[in-house]
Amino acid sequence: MTRQSPVLKSLMTRQMEKGVLKNLQDIRHFRMGRDENDIEWVFFDRQGESVNTLNRAVLEDLSRVLDQLKDHPPKGLVLRSVKSSGFCAGADIRDFLEASSPEDMIDELSQGKAILNRLESLPFPTIALVHGHCLGGGFELALACDERIAIEGAKFGFPEVQLGLHPGLDGSVRLTRLINPLEAMTYMLTGKTAYTHKAKTLGIVSEIVEERHAKAAVQSVFQSRPKSDRNGFLSSIMNTGPARSFAAKKMRKQTSKQAPKVHYPAPYALIDLWEKHGDNHDAMSKAETRSFAHLMFSETAQNLIRVYFLREALKSSAESKSEFDHLHMIGAGAMGGDIAAWSAIQGLTVSLVDIENKAIGEAMKRAKIMGQKQHLNSMQSRDALDRLIADPQQHGVMKADILIEAGPEVEKIKKQIYASVEPDLKSTAVLATNTSSLPLSDIGHSLRKKGRFAGIHFFNPVASLDLVEVVNWSGANKVTMERSRGFIGQIGKLPVNVKSAPGFLVNRALMPYLLEAILMLEEGVKAETIDKAAEDFGMPVGPIELADQVGLDICQHVGDVLREQLDTPVAEIPTFVRQKVEEGRLGKKTGHGFYKWKDGKAQKGEPETPSEDAQDRLILPMLNACATCLRKDIVGSSDELDAAMIFATGFAPFRGGPMYYADWRGHKDIQDSLLRLSKSYGERFNPDPYWQE
Ligand code: NAD
Repeated sequence: MTRQSPVLKSLMTRQMEKGVLKNLQDIRHFRMGRDENDIEWVFFDRQGESVNTLNRAVLEDLSRVLDQLKDHPPKGLVLRSVKSSGFCAGADIRDFLEASSPEDMIDELSQGKAILNRLESLPFPTIALVHGHCLGGGFELALACDERIAIEGAKFGFPEVQLGLHPGLDGSVRLTRLINPLEAMTYMLTGKTAYTHKAKTLGIVSEIVEERHAKAAVQSVFQSRPKSDRNGFLSSIMNTGPARSFAAKKMRKQTSKQAPKVHYPAPYALIDLWEKHGDNHDAMSKAETRSFAHLMFSETAQNLIRVYFLREALKSSAESKSEFDHLHMIGAGAMGGDIAAWSAIQGLTVSLVDIENKAIGEAMKRAKIMGQKQHLNSMQSRDALDRLIADPQQHGVMKADILIEAGPEVEKIKKQIYASVEPDLKSTAVLATNTSSLPLSDIGHSLRKKGRFAGIHFFNPVASLDLVEVVNWSGANKVTMERSRGFIGQIGKLPVNVKSAPGFLVNRALMPYLLEAILMLEEGVKAETIDKAAEDFGMPVGPIELADQVGLDICQHVGDVLREQLDTPVAEIPTFVRQKVEEGRLGKKTGHGFYKWKDGKAQKGEPETPSEDAQDRLILPMLNACATCLRKDIVGSSDELDAAMIFATGFAPFRGGPMYYADWRGHKDIQDSLLRLSKSYGERFNPDPYWQE
């Protein structure tokens, strides 16, 4: 169903009533109408979708809109979206998959570019009036207008690099022309978002207005400014050949720290095309088209597009009916405090309790910081904090639609907590635990209403890790599982179904990787060298740094639990790690673990060249554990498994996920390599029977 912003809806209804706004027979995705000041308003409303995206049909419709203006040109044109989600979220990625060859893609892009060029060269001034997201192809559409006016909360960006691509509808040409090209390149190379005020400072938008003043702002721009000259002074200077060569060198160096060229070719292709053609728009446009079409068929882009669809699949598994109004959160520690804050930011009323008032106070402070990091404006931040209620008396239990417990990882305490709240819960409320390691049945069987109990396992840090394991157990009913997924969808996270089993899926698969890295450290391999081996494979951070981030106490606990509960061999945590934990050297949170930490960064020295088998020693135990999870039906499919490992651990996304990588490499090769390692290093490498199937 199409969702429209209420203000826009009333504006459009008024214009319809006056007969100004017309639905045109052969135009499905836009509506248009002339106002009393001879301004043409073009409303973008992609049919049958809740979010605007660009595809061939939409662009062809836009072309028809432009045809309509030929005979009676208006004084100006305003392009805006009627969807509440924003202006336009980008090109429709489903369309990308239809191109059968780079030549096909070049054709498609050239036609799209021609339509945006027509918009750009209209003889009257044009404004994109932008609310919400304006990303990728949507941003390119807005850039083809003379000016952009932002409604508070609008955000602009080119996230294409996350798909192994760069802009393909002249975004690279227009943005480097519009603003400081170095800034433009940074935004395209990193895929980061420019929020409203930053967009104004950068020169992407000329005005920021509130929705109710939008029409007046548009009028004033049309009255005061003729069709603008697009070449900024700074842009002209920075786009000279020597300046570009100098800057390009620096960009390549900077980019190589984040994304090595062998794994992520797109940013380097973008730097190349700007360095070569930055002062020649036509040449740059043509080079952009060719480069995009070439990248599109690269393995990296194909795998990253797969990851995009994996995310969409998880999202749609959480058919959110937005049915949850009130969350009661028990435990305001590292996890509970952040789950409460996140849920309040996402619009729920949250009552928060802890036996320590100090913990609640700390959680409130962290909630404020989380709001700032989520770019909430002052009003949104105040509203979110108002929704987060300190509730030492637990009045919230009776009102809660869902209760999540994140108390200490001790079965007895958790059971006491449930026994004290269960009688007061609404009969329809979902009851959940954030436990990482306790079998759900141990807690569930002590409850009066077992069917409503599920695991909802968030990862740390809650705000940045999207994945949440929704943990099933023999006593839970189907509706509870569905509603738990719905809750996760409602708060903007990605649910994956897993079965209650030691470590569930993600910790079960991650731990052998971390443990192997720790064993290598014990053997005398440098921490930096171990991390390099994993980073060369494509992991975002190495396992030693990751162990420090997770906390050595938590690694030790999860390692011990898995060793105790699993029927497959798990390495023992070495004594030197236990000593560190005893001494309070827990990693990032205490400033000292395997590394020293300063200002949130691990202080690293130079790595040596990793040994030949280092990468396999780290990665294959993780793959082996993934195989066991699939064989034991702990997770439903290899796609869900891949998605979970990418969104919870950052597993090299350009490889498409661990099982996708295993398929690519060949199960026989994985099995043989594990057998070789098990001869050298022990039975913990014994291949899972899955590889033989
Ligand atoms: P924590 O020690 O930071 O927080 C636990 C909080 O519970 C403390 O503030 C404590 O005062 C409070 N508490 C103790 N008894 C209570 C009671 N009877 N009623 C209400 N509050 C009580 O622990 P954490 O790291 O937030 O972990 C909480 C849960 O989340 C555990 O089950 C843990 O396994 C799980 N978990 C932790 C992580 C992680 O990385 N820390 C990740 C995923 C899941």
